[in-house]
Amino acid sequence: MTVTYSNTMFEELAQTVRGDVITAADPRYDEARAVYNGMINKRPAVIVRCADTADVVDAVRFARAHQLEIAVRGGGHNAGGLGVWNDALVVDMSAMRSTTVDPDAHTVRVDPGCTWGDVDHATVAFGMATPSGFIASTGVAGLTLGGGIGYLARRFGLTVDNLLSADVVLADGQLVTASESSHPDLFWALRGGGGNFGIVTSFTFRCHDIGEHGMIIGGPVLYDLADAPEVMRWYRELLPSLPEELNGWIALLTIPPAPPFPEELWGRKACGIVWCYTGPHAQAEQVLAPIKSFGNPLLVGLHEMPFTALQGAFDPLYPAGLQWYWRADFFNEISDAAIDVHMKYGEMLPTGHSTMHLYPIDGAASRVPEQGTAFAYRDGGFAGVIVGVDPDPANAAAISDWTRDYWTELHPHSAGGAYINFLMEEGQDRVRASYRSNYDRLAQVKRRYDPDNVFHINQNIRPAGG
Ligand SMILES: Cc1cc2nc3c(=O)[nH]c(=O)nc-3n(C[C@H](O)[C@H](O)[C@H](O)COP(=O)(O)OP(=O)(O)OC[C@H]3O[C@@H](n4cnc5c(N)ncnc54)[C@H](O)[C@@H]3O)c2cc1C
Repeated sequence: MTVTYSNTMFEELAQTVRGDVITAADPRYDEARAVYNGMINKRPAVIVRCADTADVVDAVRFARAHQLEIAVRGGGHNAGGLGVWNDALVVDMSAMRSTTVDPDAHTVRVDPGCTWGDVDHATVAFGMATPSGFIASTGVAGLTLGGGIGYLARRFGLTVDNLLSADVVLADGQLVTASESSHPDLFWALRGGGGNFGIVTSFTFRCHDIGEHGMIIGGPVLYDLADAPEVMRWYRELLPSLPEELNGWIALLTIPPAPPFPEELWGRKACGIVWCYTGPHAQAEQVLAPIKSFGNPLLVGLHEMPFTALQGAFDPLYPAGLQWYWRADFFNEISDAAIDVHMKYGEMLPTGHSTMHLYPIDGAASRVPEQGTAFAYRDGGFAGVIVGVDPDPANAAAISDWTRDYWTELHPHSAGGAYINFLMEEGQDRVRASYRSNYDRLAQVKRRYDPDNVFHINQNIRPAGG
């Protein structure tokens, strides 16, 4: 489809909306089109930085009237940079960032431009949190709609398992509330189905008391890379026996050349587990004992800290604008054969930022049935991700090749499919594989709420029968 557009037509839009309308002629254009992944360089026709829900409705109606494709941007962190698109109208939610906490009801209402840092700041002040991810700078909207895997998943489930309701602007501009009692089919689909069904303008989450009034015990324990096979075998046996108040994800990495890491470890290749204990501190010594007594760690960085500190710990290491190349899969187990592959590619980590992570999806997250929400992988295993990362665009090929080669050798040991929030543009087969038996039901819901596939710049679910 070829679309021609003129700045005059966007001037009309600027008269209607309260937020900013940013075209290529605007000095803010380059900053507004940049997303977290510096490898993405898309030139939208216009970016509507919405001030409120009415702006979202106006932007959707305008785009449809002028046959413009619609991209939706929350926190801008998407792996494949799907928050922006060439020649599209970008509905940019980044200016809508308020939160409302109800400490008595244990809920938080969140605007669609919030990051998890915004939400944690609001809730941890009251000693509680809603399950999110492992980093504060990620957007609430994209992470939630894809599922949400984080430190609290073993204890309280995925982010979507704690979503109580969402306000959604549909493809025809109508605003609906989706919850267990209102548009339950849409509510089911939103919990993992990504941005396929409409634009969410408000999320309400259930919160949980964590730690001692929001103080948790957490941080990394690092081992020499040569110990990785032994560490991985120990970790896979230990994890199911741990109380769900304790979570830990495992990584292959290069120790960052910066405090708080001791200088003698800077640049050393390592295997690490980042732990987070959110239970009563009186029991911490006993719960953490098997971790503190295992192997020959290079560093035991477990400390008492506010949950917000652990959530934000990795943000300075991964500022916006780096080159990122992603590949992912789900894994039912960390098999010996997979460990051999991890070792091979761990030794070849191409840059200091490049890494491999395995995030547990067990405990409470695995007690939700596969058909309970759109997020289908509830097997009690791991979401794995390999990321080649570097500040220098000249290294884009090197990080991409390492990631692809690693993934190609590891994939046969996977459960198939991947967390959709870790996919780049990898085609329909990968999207179907990720939704497993839920794909056909999602396609039916898509037909009901977005029959023309207006919202297709995402991990796309095509309307049934289309
Ligand atoms: C450094 C880093 C760390 C990460 N860590 C984790 C983690 O610990 N756990 C985890 O689960 N994931 C994690 N992710 C993946 C993350 O969940 C995805 O990148 C997610 O897409 C980010 O959401 P966003 O709003 O920032 O993205 P955006 O790029 O803004 O949006 C992504 C997509 O979400 C949809 N979308 C965004 N806003 C809306 C809206 N308001 N309504 C409807 N659709 C919308 C659109 O389809 C859009 O294309 C991480 C990503 C990065 C880059």
